[in-house]
Amino acid sequence: MDRKSSPDLAAYYGQERLPRYTSYPTAPHFSPAIDHATYAEWLRTIPSKATASLYLHVPFCRAMCWYCGCHTSVARRQEPIAIYEAALRCEIDLVVRHIGTRIAVGHIHFGGGTPTIMAPESFADLMGTIRHSFFVLPSAEIAIEIDPRTLSVAMVDALVLGGVNRASLGVQSFDPVVQRAINRVQSFAETADATSNLRRAGIAGVNFDLIYGLPHQTVASCLDTVARCVALRPDRLSVFGYAHVPAFKKHQRKIDESALPGSRERYEQACAIGEALKAAGYLQVGLDHFALPGDAMAVAFREGRLRRNFQGYTTDANDVLIGFGASAIGCLPQGYVQNEVPIRAYSEAIAAGRLATVKGYALNDDDRLRAEIIERIMCDYGVDLGAICARHGSAAETMLRSAPRLHDLISDGVVELDGASLAVADHSRFLVRSVAAAFDAHLDAAARLHSRAV
Ligand code: SF4
Repeated sequence: MDRKSSPDLAAYYGQERLPRYTSYPTAPHFSPAIDHATYAEWLRTIPSKATASLYLHVPFCRAMCWYCGCHTSVARRQEPIAIYEAALRCEIDLVVRHIGTRIAVGHIHFGGGTPTIMAPESFADLMGTIRHSFFVLPSAEIAIEIDPRTLSVAMVDALVLGGVNRASLGVQSFDPVVQRAINRVQSFAETADATSNLRRAGIAGVNFDLIYGLPHQTVASCLDTVARCVALRPDRLSVFGYAHVPAFKKHQRKIDESALPGSRERYEQACAIGEALKAAGYLQVGLDHFALPGDAMAVAFREGRLRRNFQGYTTDANDVLIGFGASAIGCLPQGYVQNEVPIRAYSEAIAAGRLATVKGYALNDDDRLRAEIIERIMCDYGVDLGAICARHGSAAETMLRSAPRLHDLISDGVVELDGASLAVADHSRFLVRSVAAAFDAHLDAAARLHSRAV
């Protein structure tokens, strides 16, 4: 048996380009065969008793961070943002007309881009349309992504009035050398002020987003950033490895590749951040989240209820995910749908009274089985293949035979297999994407589009 040490495993498996498995199959497999007509049919089949999760994409920022992997663009004027917000409201009307009934909503997420770039009154209008069109449950989580550099007091008030109860603040790194190298200069005071303004206004849930593997980043600078974050005590942190894909994200070409840490350094940075957060009382949740033990995500993880969707790890267990806005992705029992990515094409479709769906994927039985296996591996670091396969009318032995990549992972001690139960070894949890990939029947076709595993 050829067991490797953790750093060797990181060097061996960490070079692989793998999906983050926020869906299965992943977005590169979406096809134009699924269009607005298919989506209209799928929407009509949503039962009146279904609960929905809503995602609203706001693809505007005041400046471009060079590491950014999101669908966004720079807007210096407010007018295009107001026009886009009106299109979002039209899209909500259109979608609800196709559903045909006012269904309940248990979760709303505003992502981007920088959703708080909207004028406070535009955000209020949007929330008004959502509440008029859907029955937003009193227990609903309403979350929004925030750039602390541009958060005004008036916007904080609008968020509170709209019912927002969770805010995700982009931090990434407090190291000024790193900040300059990624074109995102953000002082500790800006982050601290935004955090205290949100909390003072009554928004209790605060997440911070950190990144490792950025240019000039070191273990020491990562630890300094963690120490400053811990002082502000967010209840959750997400910690992502920088995905350098300049062939697809042109602004990433401004990043000095010679200053990027290698696989082993990325692994050391990820480990150092994780250990420091655990020492500060945070519980690791899945691959890349850390939460205080009483936080809803930590509780869901402990109870095996953690889920994964296009926003990453989530406590959201609603029946359907409806995406609004340019590039937004939705998930219905039949499959996935994605809107036009260019803002103009999206807006033209909506103005013409047409759903803006431009591609998607219709799930088959094998996809549903593999999607559940992959989601459990990503969320629980293990899976009972026997139980899941039986529920899908399949056999665990057949699934194992169709996963040849597992053999190396088992002989390297990354995975332990006990009958039909699979567990990711504690010291190899950072390789959970490699384990999930062993069950991905679509993997090879889109490998170069993904980020490195570590
Ligand atoms: S603020 Fe966020 S979405 Fe906007 S460019 Fe920076 S990283 Fe990308």
